[in-house]
Amino acid sequence: MRLLVVEDNKELAGLLVEGLKAGGYEADRAARADEALHMAGETEYVAIVLDLGLPDADGMSVLRALRARLDATPVLVLTARDSVNNRVEGLRAGADDYLVKPFAFEELLARLEALLRRPQQQIASLLSIADLTLDVASRRVHVGGQLQTLSSREVAVLEILLRRKGRVVPKRLIEDQLFGLSGDVSSNAVEVYVHRLRKQLADRTPSIQIHTIRGVGYMVAETP
Ligand code: CA
Repeated sequence: MRLLVVEDNKELAGLLVEGLKAGGYEADRAARADEALHMAGETEYVAIVLDLGLPDADGMSVLRALRARLDATPVLVLTARDSVNNRVEGLRAGADDYLVKPFAFEELLARLEALLRRPQQQIASLLSIADLTLDVASRRVHVGGQLQTLSSREVAVLEILLRRKGRVVPKRLIEDQLFGLSGDVSSNAVEVYVHRLRKQLADRTPSIQIHTIRGVGYMVAETP
């Protein structure tokens, strides 16, 4: 049971890591946002404890980047900012729980236990639009209750669009998520996948449209 603690304050991070070890977990520490994303990409953590005030970026951007790259590791956000807005923003960005500093260490342990008890399906979400659902964990797509056969790339594109439904998703972002940052991508690869997905959906339901916003990207929306 390995956890990642993302906290720049050395003293607090040390206490957290030691406390978690005493609580029976293994724990790694990252002090910066870029370090956290790198470590989360290298190791399968059972959960991430994430401070929002980091030196190189807001912790919220770490959370968004994790979710954007389809990492569903449970995230417990730690913050000194006790405002409703921050809580709402954190939960919207995909945090699983929230703890405001200062907190009792026992409470952190209790919340982590609760997070880890949740079945995986609840952590990985079910995305939906109109009569379509996509189960992120099983990669199954249903339209009108019928299981659909889509290629894994098509499902990946669909997921990226559904996570931001009703908003424009930059083409560049889809490219990064499909092919990583290798840069070894033909310039129209995303267009090809979006085109295929659009055709697949058009064959199955009239209720969903993928709009092209020229020079920017794509947006999935319900047909008005
Ligand atoms: Ca901090």
